[in-house]
Amino acid sequence: MKLAVFSAKPYDKLYLTTHHAAELDRAAGIDVTYHDFPLNLETAELARGFDAVCVFVNDTVDAPVIEALAKDGVKAILLRCAGFNNVDLDAAEQHGLFVANVPSYSPEAVAEFAVALIQTLNRNTHRAYNRVREGNFNLNGLLGRTLHGKTVGVIGTGKIGVAFAKIMKGFGCTVLGYDPFPSDEFKPCGEYTDLDALLSQSDIVSLHCPLMEKTKHIINEDSLAKMKPSAMLVNTSRGGLVKTKAVIAAMKSKKLGGLALDVYDGEGALFYNDHSGEIIDDDELMRLTTFHNVLVCGHQAFFTDEALAEIGACTLRNLADFVHQRPCKNSLLRDGKTLTRTKSIP
Ligand code: NAD
Repeated sequence: MKLAVFSAKPYDKLYLTTHHAAELDRAAGIDVTYHDFPLNLETAELARGFDAVCVFVNDTVDAPVIEALAKDGVKAILLRCAGFNNVDLDAAEQHGLFVANVPSYSPEAVAEFAVALIQTLNRNTHRAYNRVREGNFNLNGLLGRTLHGKTVGVIGTGKIGVAFAKIMKGFGCTVLGYDPFPSDEFKPCGEYTDLDALLSQSDIVSLHCPLMEKTKHIINEDSLAKMKPSAMLVNTSRGGLVKTKAVIAAMKSKKLGGLALDVYDGEGALFYNDHSGEIIDDDELMRLTTFHNVLVCGHQAFFTDEALAEIGACTLRNLADFVHQRPCKNSLLRDGKTLTRTKSIP
């Protein structure tokens, strides 16, 4: 079994191989190669001779890449993440490839990060940190709002949305949820409502739904117009949920009072790499970073020790299921049908 890991970082190596060295030794015959570049049509040929590839959020696993992988003998695609919007499941099914993800490594890690962004933006600790380092202890411009008693809207009440809702309820917020598939887990935390009511009543709107055809640009000019004046928008899910031009306009007109993004529509070209010595030509991203009330992070909500440990262990469990031809509970395809309720964007 030869596995090629794309977009590999030192921490991937640590949590996939180093921490599992004994298991990998026992499972003699598993040979792992790390590529620090992403999988795409140009790099797919480097998977030739491998049985499986392991990919992350910004690897391209569309129909042409899947066709190239299948032609070169690859039989399995292991996602070391939950979201699978970058994988064409229909193409994988057509070529008979095994596809599995890590559906739940630590919903709390992502939920806690969303809360960290809200707290930072609301109480301006990002600005206070810089001021104090300059010897400036002036409080002007740092005024926040007490979260207790505010209304928080959760779009997508799956594992992460519920973990987030529980925390916000703990802060004393009224929690509203919107999800076409309501869940019993959410009900003790808040009230389900329709999307328009959630947008118009929430002081903070947090996105926790997957990216798919129906949710692409779910935050656009129309939905922003329905939001409360000065509301805060938080996206820790996928960049494509938010239409960047529209949020820039909403920030400029002060319709939005704060914007926290851990993910960004054009992140594939930039995130997870150091571009500090370059001229970044993404004007929309650069415009976003000029607002004092916009926080942009590099898709790091998942990045905790506990989450990486589970991602590594679960990816190897999925691989073992594939090797031993056992049923895999994280398979995204079974009997020719997509297991999940959601469908990836081609
Ligand atoms: P999940 O599958 O448990 O929950 C997703 C929920 O969204 C489901 O309840 C589903 O019914 C709902 N949904 C589907 N269509 C919807 C729509 N049109 N409107 C509103 N809700 C809709 O997934 P999860 O584990 O909670 O993860 C959610 C997303 O978080 C993932 O898809 C992934 O994109 C993102 N994520 C980001 C990071 C990060 O590091 N920033 C890490 C993990 C996951």
